[in-house]
Amino acid sequence: MKKLALHWKIIIGMILGIIFGFIMNGVDGGKGLVTDWVSPFGTIFINLLKLIAVPLILASLVKGISDLKDISKIKSMGFRTIGIYIGTTLVAIIIGLSIVNLIKPGDGMPQDTIEKIKVKYANDAGVADKLTKAAAQKDAGPLQALVDIFPSNIFKSFAEASMLQVIFFALFVGICLLLIGEKKAEPLVKFFDSLNEVVMKMVDLIMLFAPYAVFALLANVIIAFDDTEILLKLLYYALCVVGGLFLMIGFYLLLISIYAKKSPLWFLSRISPAQLLAFSTSSSAATLPVTMERVEEHLGVDKEVSGFVLPVGATVNMDGTSLYQGIAAVFIMQVIWPEGLGFANQLTIILTALLASIGSAAVPSAGMVMLVIVLESIDFPSELLPIGLALIFAVDRPLDMCRTVVNVTGDATVSMMVAKSLDKLHDPKPKEWDDHYDEVK
Ligand code: ASP
Repeated sequence: MKKLALHWKIIIGMILGIIFGFIMNGVDGGKGLVTDWVSPFGTIFINLLKLIAVPLILASLVKGISDLKDISKIKSMGFRTIGIYIGTTLVAIIIGLSIVNLIKPGDGMPQDTIEKIKVKYANDAGVADKLTKAAAQKDAGPLQALVDIFPSNIFKSFAEASMLQVIFFALFVGICLLLIGEKKAEPLVKFFDSLNEVVMKMVDLIMLFAPYAVFALLANVIIAFDDTEILLKLLYYALCVVGGLFLMIGFYLLLISIYAKKSPLWFLSRISPAQLLAFSTSSSAATLPVTMERVEEHLGVDKEVSGFVLPVGATVNMDGTSLYQGIAAVFIMQVIWPEGLGFANQLTIILTALLASIGSAAVPSAGMVMLVIVLESIDFPSELLPIGLALIFAVDRPLDMCRTVVNVTGDATVSMMVAKSLDKLHDPKPKEWDDHYDEVK
């Protein structure tokens, strides 16, 4: 019998998880049952993915760079990656702003709905938490983001999974391996090569568990929704965000077919397990090991490109998040601060949303923290901030899930473009979890 493709298994797991979540929502004690007995399996899965992210970045990048044989290639890869990332992010923000200005989802929201939302969420601990985190982020100096790339203790970077610091260290090791010559470098190169194979195999094994994990993750998301009335009131706004995100995916597919000369369907079918996990986990960082595996083994991007472009992308390239920030900021203004809706403010939003998406952590809900900073950049009245966040809080989780899909798809697209431009795109050779299993069992 033909095996069911992984993405179908994951989709079935997701649908069953959603149905189960709704059933448990209606049953006495159902929510507690999901929290205590189902949701921990989702957490275990995310923990396993996070566990292998750092060794994977390290092994894949060190191995990739030491294979390059030519340091100047690193420079051109770096410039291209950052250049394309900035380009796609700008497109995303412009799409977002165009949609929200055209459709105006915030115009005419009834005062009693605003009041209801205010009462329910303005003093919510979640909203307060976003405001506190944003304040902490804002207090840092202008060059702090640059300083943060250079670690003083690499074990601390490993422990905290500071992506950019790990990337810096891996690049440093890779370049020095090139400089000491092939013979002296050989033992370490072999070590990292083998480590890379082991971690990639771990991804295969962890993914066997994915259909069950997404069941747990989605059931957990569903039991968190309790006010469908407010959700429906925000539907118009949510549809604007989702519509924009679809347009962004269309833009990536255009780039894939025009520049990388691959069919969009081919691309989607190969990257879809990563997209589905991005949706289920709301975290590009947790999805990263799977994205790397799909891009290297199923899309045919060489390690030195994927090992650099994808982890950098997970941290600095968040097109879905910036598109969302554009729409959310203008939506909030349309509802509670229409006098702020001038052209100059929207231009400021473009700039700060670009910087904010670079500064956002690749974890659930990070986009909302950075939204506070975007709003503060246009002098949004601070007393209205909690109300502004309260307005979009109810639908943040589902939108977070959708924008994370776009963040991950964007990283995969750019890695294909950079690979193509450096002649590092090859015929993919997928490895199954059970390669060699017959020999060892
Ligand atoms: N959850 C998103 C990510 O991990 C970030 C955000 O938009 O909140 O990519």
